Amino acid sequence: MNHTNVQAVPNTAFDVQKIRQDFPILHQQVHGKPLAYLDNAASAQRPQCVIDAVCRYETHDHANVHRGVHTLSERATQAYENAREKVRSYINAASVSECVYVRGTTEAINLVANAWGQNNVKAGDEILISWMEHHSNIVPWQMLCARTGAKLVVAPITPRGEIDMEKFAALLSDRTRLVAVGHISNALGTVNPIRDIIALAHDRDIPVLIDGAQAMPHTRVDVQDLDVDFYAFSGHKMFAPTGIGVLYAKTRYLERMPPYQGGGEMILAVNFERSVYNELPYKFEAGTPNIAGAVGLGAAIDYLGALDFAALLEHEQHLLDYATEQLSSLSGIRLIGTARKKASVVSFVLENIHAHDLGTIVDSDGVAIRTGHHCAMPVMDYFEVPATARASFAFYNTVDEIDALTNALKKAQRMFA
Ligand code: PLP
Repeated sequence: MNHTNVQAVPNTAFDVQKIRQDFPILHQQVHGKPLAYLDNAASAQRPQCVIDAVCRYETHDHANVHRGVHTLSERATQAYENAREKVRSYINAASVSECVYVRGTTEAINLVANAWGQNNVKAGDEILISWMEHHSNIVPWQMLCARTGAKLVVAPITPRGEIDMEKFAALLSDRTRLVAVGHISNALGTVNPIRDIIALAHDRDIPVLIDGAQAMPHTRVDVQDLDVDFYAFSGHKMFAPTGIGVLYAKTRYLERMPPYQGGGEMILAVNFERSVYNELPYKFEAGTPNIAGAVGLGAAIDYLGALDFAALLEHEQHLLDYATEQLSSLSGIRLIGTARKKASVVSFVLENIHAHDLGTIVDSDGVAIRTGHHCAMPVMDYFEVPATARASFAFYNTVDEIDALTNALKKAQRMFA
C-alpha cells in the first residue's frame, strides 16, 4: 500500500455523493457542524430503502409468523422467509435451513458455544482463538471451557496486528475441537487470512467458526467457496436494523446440535413427557422473532447487492489510504494496527491526550468516532494502551469527512499543547 501523496479525489467510478443521498441520517448538523459519521464499525447507518421496507412492513403487513392462517400472518411469514432466502443467496449457503436468524453475532456465537459445545467439547479439549478477537468471540468460549474443563488457547499476533500464522499452525493439535476467529478485526482493521486458517484446521478435521461481524459490510462472502463450518454476522453492521443477525452453519452440524433455547416456534409437538423439535432452521429460533428486523436485513441485502462492489471497495481503500496518510502526518500519533491487509478502520492514540477526551473534542466538531477498548481488551493489553480512538469508514464516507477529523484532532492537540 502506498501512503504517499494519496489524492483527495479518487480515480473511481463510485459516486459517493449520489450514494449519500440514500442515507437520510447523514444530512444533519451536530453542534452546528456537518455530521461526519466515522463510527461504522460500531454500527452502520441505514439507507432509506431499509427504513421504508421496515415501515411498510409495520404499516401494512405485521402479524406473528408461521402460526396464523389469516392474510396478515401469511404476508408476515412470506416477508420473513423471503428475507431468509435473500440471506441464503447473498452468502451462497446451500439451503435456507442453514441460515438461522439470531439477534446478532454475539447470539450466534453463544448459540454455537452452547448447542454445539455441549456435545462436542470435554475436559482436556481445546478451543483455538486469536489474540485480536472481539469479546463476543472470547467470552462464550471461556464460559464453555469453564463448564467443561476444556482450555482456551490463544494464537498470538504480531506488532503489525496480524495473526502469527506459524504459531497459529503450531497450536493446532489433536486436542483442538474448534477454531474460532474473526474475519476482520474491529479494533485493528486487520483482514485475517481465513482461507488459510480454514484449510489448516480442515487438514486436521477441525471445524471453523468465523466471526463475520466486520466483514459483511466490506466483503462479499461465499460460505460454500470458503468451506466455512459456522459464519456469524449482525444486520446492523451491514446497513440493516439492530437486533437481527444470522448464524450460517453447515447442515451436518445443525442437525446434530440440540436446541439452544426452548419455547414456541422450535417444536413440532409438546406433551409433558417430551417435545419433538422442529426442522431446521426453526429448531434454533425459539419464540417470536424479530420479523421487522429480518425484513430490514432483506432490504439491506437488496441494496448491497445492487452496488458495484468492486468500485465500492476501491473507494473504501482510497478512504483508508487517505486517512492513514493524513493521520500519520500528525505529531505524536501512533497508529494501532498496521496490517498489510486492512479494512477501512484506523485506530490510533495521540500523545498526552486520552482517547475519551479526543472523542469528546472531535464530537464538538460534528465528527463521530469511537474511543475505548472496542470490546477487545486483550488487543489493548498487547499494544499496552488503555484505549484507542477509532475512525471506521463505510462506502458513504468522504475525504472531506477525513479532513474534518484531521482538523478536529489538530484542534485537540492545540488544546492540550
Ligand atoms: N465481533 C466483532 C468483530 C464485532 O466488531 C462485533 C461488534 O462490534 C461483534 C462481534 C458483536 O456484534 P453484535 O454486538 O452485533 O452482536
